[in-house]
Amino acid sequence: MVRSVKRLVVLGSTGSIGRQTLEVIASFPDRFQVIGLAAGENATLLAKQVAQFGPRFVCCRKLPPGDYQALSLEEMAAHPEADIVVIATPGRSGLGPTLAAAEAGKRIALANKESLVMAGEIITTAAEKSGASIIPVDSEHSAIWQCLEGERSAPQRFILTASGGPFRGYTPSRLAGVTPQQALAHPSWRMGRKVTIDSATLMNKGLEVIEAHWLFNMAYDNISVLIHPQSIIHSLVEFADGAVKAQLSHPDMRLPIQYALAYPERLANAALPLLNWDELTHLDFEPPDLAAFPCLKLAVQAGRKGGTYPAVLSGAGEAAVELFLTGRIGFTDIAATVAGALEEHESSSQPTIAEITAAEAWARQQVLQMAPGGSRC
Ligand code: MG
Repeated sequence: MVRSVKRLVVLGSTGSIGRQTLEVIASFPDRFQVIGLAAGENATLLAKQVAQFGPRFVCCRKLPPGDYQALSLEEMAAHPEADIVVIATPGRSGLGPTLAAAEAGKRIALANKESLVMAGEIITTAAEKSGASIIPVDSEHSAIWQCLEGERSAPQRFILTASGGPFRGYTPSRLAGVTPQQALAHPSWRMGRKVTIDSATLMNKGLEVIEAHWLFNMAYDNISVLIHPQSIIHSLVEFADGAVKAQLSHPDMRLPIQYALAYPERLANAALPLLNWDELTHLDFEPPDLAAFPCLKLAVQAGRKGGTYPAVLSGAGEAAVELFLTGRIGFTDIAATVAGALEEHESSSQPTIAEITAAEAWARQQVLQMAPGGSRC
């Protein structure tokens, strides 16, 4: 059987997900070909990737040497020659290319949360219209996708699992004293800095609830969160008859990345670790502590309210994490800061992309200006 090689563009190729995506691609040269790479700041690593993969299109503020055409993120995401668009650009920079790929009818391997959080309705509507498919790379949503595969009946409920981060079991007063170094040491996953801090506050799980709502058209009432410290079960799906399906694997992002690229196939990859059932004696679960980790509640509330509130959540959250990492606010101030921005915001209903990006930028500015040492200009 002649199998056509899938042509990929990888946006955010030097970040954690981008690098792991290229690792997977490099393991299957007869299946995947990189035709486009985009990176933000890390021009040195991008230069190495360009030399290794020889893409035809590149996007970066500082372009590395090579024989390629420079394109914008949006041009690359919608390029007629791209079969799969991997969107691993961080934060708000994922919004433009995700929308462009959705409008162009692409298969999108989506690792960027913020695009769906901020503009879920616009993106999913565009994808439906063009026939684009959005395949989640986030491990929880990949797990749900895998559990739904082959099912003909609509699921009743999703249970998103969360490791609980490095501060599971901490009291609010103990949390107030944690440092960026402690918060960056995640017990089970290797991830970028922003998402690692978001995992420690459980903001990440809140963003994932919003993401799940849009990806699978599931009501907020039917999405719950369960702390599962081993990060072996990546999420659960409950069906009408009470049956619950789960997807289990080592906490390794290369699996959901590979699944999104190869879907509906499963590929053997010796680099992916197998679960050892002799060592795995038990799996633990507990409800999330919403008093100690209020970001989860804040995020779900913003998602339920809709309009531009999720964009404000995203922008304020990003700015607050930046302030925490630079030592300007404490760990527990992150939630208070985001809550303050949400309270001050006046949302528009049915917002346009311009209104969404304006709300996100307003929230970031608002948080940075209110911070100690910030300038009120
Ligand atoms: Mg996740």
